[in-house]
Amino acid sequence: MTQRMLRFVKTGQQRPEKRSADERREDFDEIYKEFAREKAAEQASRCSQCGIPFCQIHCPLHNNIPDWLKLTAEDRLEEAYEVSQATNTFPEVCGRICPQDRLCEGNCVIEKGFSSVTIGAVERYITETAFENGWVKPIKPRRELGQSVGIIGAGPGGLAAADRLRRKGYQVHVYDRYDRVGGLMVYGIPGFKLEKDVVERRTRQMIEGGITFHTSFNVGEDATLEELRARHDALLIATGVYKKRELKMPGVGLKNIHQALTYLTASNRTGLGDTVTEFENGMLDAKGKNVVVIGGGDTAMDCVRTAVRQGAKSVKCLYRRDRENMPGSVREVAHAEEEGVEFIWLAAPQAFLGDETVSGVKAIRMRLGAADASGRRSPEAVPGSEFTLEADIVIKALGFDPEDLPRLFGAPELDVSRWGTVHIDFRTMMTNLEGVFAAGDIVRGASLVVWAIRDGRDAADAMHSYLSARQAAEADLAKAS
Ligand SMILES: Cc1cc2nc3c(=O)[nH]c(=O)nc-3n(C[C@H](O)[C@H](O)[C@H](O)COP(=O)(O)OP(=O)(O)OC[C@H]3O[C@@H](n4cnc5c(N)ncnc54)[C@H](O)[C@@H]3O)c2cc1C
Ligand code: SF4
Repeated sequence: MTQRMLRFVKTGQQRPEKRSADERREDFDEIYKEFAREKAAEQASRCSQCGIPFCQIHCPLHNNIPDWLKLTAEDRLEEAYEVSQATNTFPEVCGRICPQDRLCEGNCVIEKGFSSVTIGAVERYITETAFENGWVKPIKPRRELGQSVGIIGAGPGGLAAADRLRRKGYQVHVYDRYDRVGGLMVYGIPGFKLEKDVVERRTRQMIEGGITFHTSFNVGEDATLEELRARHDALLIATGVYKKRELKMPGVGLKNIHQALTYLTASNRTGLGDTVTEFENGMLDAKGKNVVVIGGGDTAMDCVRTAVRQGAKSVKCLYRRDRENMPGSVREVAHAEEEGVEFIWLAAPQAFLGDETVSGVKAIRMRLGAADASGRRSPEAVPGSEFTLEADIVIKALGFDPEDLPRLFGAPELDVSRWGTVHIDFRTMMTNLEGVFAAGDIVRGASLVVWAIRDGRDAADAMHSYLSARQAAEADLAKAS
């Protein structure tokens, strides 16, 4: 049924139904159900169609949100999908896992006084409807171009670029050291936030559209950067950030102290049907164990919620600042609490206890002191407040840094920052190497899927300009000779 807009005055905010915490604890399925058609239209009709849509400004992709909300309210879903996919390669992914409270929804003008429009849920609904109705078609370039591009990394950054370049007709080859396509969308982010068949569905569409994937291909081992440069007319580096941050304290080398990504990858692989020896032998399985996760970001939230689903005896999250100052999304913390996770705010680890295998964490209470240079209040230890937590597994979720790409790629001439992120000229998206571009986390540091998509799309446009100019110059040269 067609709905009129500006309904926020009469109609309250309603998110799609959330499964109960008891039910969620039993599996790795997504926690929100799909909107029913009428509900999606009703919620979309709450949009005030304001003159300056802050939601659009604060969406990294500048999605044309007011227009697709209006089309949804008018039951014109195929057109809504056309508008939504014009700026987003993976609307079904962003609708699920963008931290909307910090991006589009957090800036919705009706948020003041009324709750925001449920933008993410409507975006997901539009795209799911499009897939169900066969409106999502494989890429079909208008003409094939002779030039070929190589993309290193099949995460959202690399895939967004691959999609856009293929649509223009380039011969696109994507190389990834993983055996599946999707990067952290497959091996990092757990299924309860993003089910894996959602990513696989897009991958199939890209293969049908003519993109060639070279999986289990480790650039640096299977080919150097120079070899790939010789193989393609342009290259994109979209390798993400995978160097784990370490803790320096007594006992850190004990058994059963794991890195977050090692733990999450084992869980995701097991869910995908792979045999993971360290999960089978119990090392990376939290079942029946006391689990302590260290960190306060979204990766820490994913670890605690995974441990709950594996059947842990207890799950505690240790974070050195308080709830208001944690980097993780407020919504994710609320989900974790509902599922039975215990948060120990203002506490930091001092040592890991145990003989060979960890048996506990010695921690100390913290308080927030003066603000540092970034304006954030620094945590400082409260003397004499030490305490001990029982732990059979400890997971370190402290963030990621870039790997040493110049060394890994056998390309010492590649220009990187002192943190290891790849330097690019932001007007051209090109690195200091001719025809080599970069995008995503490897340029901006650990960030979000939606930013990787934005970077991938920008890089694709920049590569197109570069390749067109090169082809024109070659044609001129051929004419002249
Ligand atoms: C646990 C976790 C949870 C997250 N949750 C969210 C969330 O809820 N919402 C959100 O928006 N973001 C989330 N993020 C962040 C998000 O996943 C990343 O910002 C995003 O995936 C970055 O995309 P990318 O394409 O730059 O890199 P990646 O997704 O990391 O992809 C890089 C790809 O490059 C490949 N690669 C690396 N080196 C090589 C090499 N030498 N040769 C060949 N291939 C190589 C890797 O195998 C990988 O497939 C999360 C991250 C983590 C770790
Ligand atoms: S892509 Fe993310 S930020 Fe943009 S509209 Fe969708 S959910 Fe909001």
